[in-house]
Amino acid sequence: MADIADTDTRISRRFFLKGAGAGVAVTSLGALGFGGIEAAYADSIRPFKLLGTTITRNTCTYCSVACGILIYSKGDITKGEKAEVKHIEGDVDHPTNRGTLCPKGAALLDFVHAKTRLEYPMVRRPGSDKFERVTWDYALDRIARLLKDDRDKNFIEKNAAGVTVNRWVSSGFLAASATTNETAFCTFKVVRSMGMLMFDNQARV
Ligand code: SF4
Repeated sequence: MADIADTDTRISRRFFLKGAGAGVAVTSLGALGFGGIEAAYADSIRPFKLLGTTITRNTCTYCSVACGILIYSKGDITKGEKAEVKHIEGDVDHPTNRGTLCPKGAALLDFVHAKTRLEYPMVRRPGSDKFERVTWDYALDRIARLLKDDRDKNFIEKNAAGVTVNRWVSSGFLAASATTNETAFCTFKVVRSMGMLMFDNQARV
């Protein structure tokens, strides 16, 4: 993700022309003795709601179309502040969606702020009736351990006819859809090199 701009420094052409035109009008009125109008006009302009936000480019999480999005957030994480996402919209510069989003993508802000959103790894231990938070290190080590044990136990080197097949069919892998071609290529190579046959993509979920 890369910060691309601060909205303090951005002003749209339409906003500029509108303000400039109205400015000429109120200045003329001021010359005619209607000085209070200028102040009233200034008071009537609502502050741009995304003023002072940081814009970050990202990819929609939902499907393999992988539309580009712009995330507007308040709060500077480089100063120890918590960044709060205020608005999300399609990225007009993105070649896939050119600023558009489908209804799912257009509702991304609700997903970001959803109380039920999973933000860290959790585990439900054998016999327990609840999930508990664990570290990423713990989660990754645990996944690696279980995969290795399962592969060692169930790997099929040859079929009944004695033909080498090198299959691992007791575990599956669900990959992310919003990845680059390079990431997808590496994921495919890792999964297939282990002999895993059940391999699908979140884009189809
Ligand atoms: S869910 Fe919609 S907005 Fe998101 S990547 Fe797919 S088509 Fe684009």
